[in-house]
Amino acid sequence: MTAAATAPGTPRLVSRLPRVGTTIFTTMSALAAEHGAINLGQGFPDFDCDPALVACVERAMRANHNQYPPMAGVPALRDAVAAKIALLHGRRYEPASEITITAGGTQAILTAILACVHPGDEVVVIEPAYDSYLPGIALAGGVAVKVPMQRQPGAGFAIDWDAVGAALTPRTRLVLVNSPHNPTGASFEPADLDRLAALLRDTDILVIGDEVYEHMVFDGRAHCSLAGHDELAARSFVLSSFGKTFHVTGWKVGYCAAPAALTAEFRKVHQFNVFTVNTPMQHGLASYLDDPTPWRELPAFYQSKRDRFRAGLAGTGFRLLPSTGTYFQCAEYGGLSAAPAGLSELDFCRWLTTQVGVAAIPLSSFYDAPVENGIVRFCFAKRDDTLDSAIARLAAL
Ligand code: GLN
Repeated sequence: MTAAATAPGTPRLVSRLPRVGTTIFTTMSALAAEHGAINLGQGFPDFDCDPALVACVERAMRANHNQYPPMAGVPALRDAVAAKIALLHGRRYEPASEITITAGGTQAILTAILACVHPGDEVVVIEPAYDSYLPGIALAGGVAVKVPMQRQPGAGFAIDWDAVGAALTPRTRLVLVNSPHNPTGASFEPADLDRLAALLRDTDILVIGDEVYEHMVFDGRAHCSLAGHDELAARSFVLSSFGKTFHVTGWKVGYCAAPAALTAEFRKVHQFNVFTVNTPMQHGLASYLDDPTPWRELPAFYQSKRDRFRAGLAGTGFRLLPSTGTYFQCAEYGGLSAAPAGLSELDFCRWLTTQVGVAAIPLSSFYDAPVENGIVRFCFAKRDDTLDSAIARLAAL
C-alpha cells in the first residue's frame, strides 16, 4: 500500500505495521464486484442465516437486552458454549472463569497474542497462515518463526511436526495452530495433537488453537479440538466463531475457551480493547444454541457443497487438493490449457476474475515470503446455483 500523503500540520506517524496493506480478501472482492465476477474468493456465505436466529436476536432486542453485558460475555451464552464443548470434546470449561465471548475470531486471536507475547518472544506459525497472525505477532513485538507445511506430490498439505520441533527455542512463547486449516482445507488427526503435546511437554510454551471452522469437517471425521486433549487444553486458548458456524460472518461474535489462569490474562486485554461484545447478538445466540440441530447439520451441509464443487471441476484442468475441512477448496491451475502460461498465483487470480468471471484467492497471500505453489483457493460457502454458475465458467477453461 502506498503511504497516505501527510497533511500539513499532521506529524509523521511511524507505522507499527509498515508492510501491511489492504487484505487480499478485500482486494479480490472489490475486483470481483468491479468485473461482475462470481466471488469464490473471500470466505463468506452468499446465502442468509436461519430466520430463527434473526428472530432470537430480535426477541432479545425487544426484551431490552441493549445495554452493556458483563465484560466476559452474557452468562447464558458462556453456559451454552461450555455445554457444547463438554458434549463434543469431554472437557468442562467453567463459564465464569474460562469462557470469554469475543468480537469474532480475529479479535480473539489478537487478544490471545497480546495477552502472552512479550517483545522479543518467538511465536511459531505454520505457513500458509491466515493473514491476521503475523500482524498480530508484530503488534505484540513478537518474532514470528514460520514453519512451512509439507506436501507430497499429488497429496494435500500436512504439518511437518519435526520442523515444528526444530523451530522451538528457549525463547518460544507460543505456537499458533489452525484446524480445520484455512486455506489448505487440511484437518488435524488425533496423532497431530499427540505430536504437538509431546513437543511442548516440559516447556512453558502456550498454544492458540484457531478452530473457527470446527463444524466443517467431512467424510465422517470428528473435529480434533485442542479442548479434547488433556495436555494441550491445559496450555491452550481455544478459539471459535459463530459467524462461521451460523452463516453470520458480519455479526462478529466468537469465543475463547482457556484455563482460568490464561483466561484471566486474556480478559485483561479484552477489557481494554473491546470491553464487551454486543448484547442482543449474545442473547440471541444463547437461545439459538438451545437446539443443537443447526451445528449438527453443518458437516453434511458443507460436505455436499464441497462434493458438488469438486464434481464440477473433476473434468477440468484444475487439480484438486484434498479438502477434509473448512469451506475452502484448493486447486492447482498449472494444467489449464486456456490460461496464459507462467502466471503467478496473484496474476492467475486477477486473470480468472477479470477474464473468466470467477474470483479466487492466491495461496501465496498466506505466506510472508514470496512462495509460489501454483495453487489458488476457492470458497464453496455459496448457494448451489452460484457454485453451478462458477463451475460452468471454470469448466470452459
Ligand atoms: N476469513 C475469511 C477468508 O479467509 C476472510 C476474512 C476477511 O476478509 N478478513 O477468506
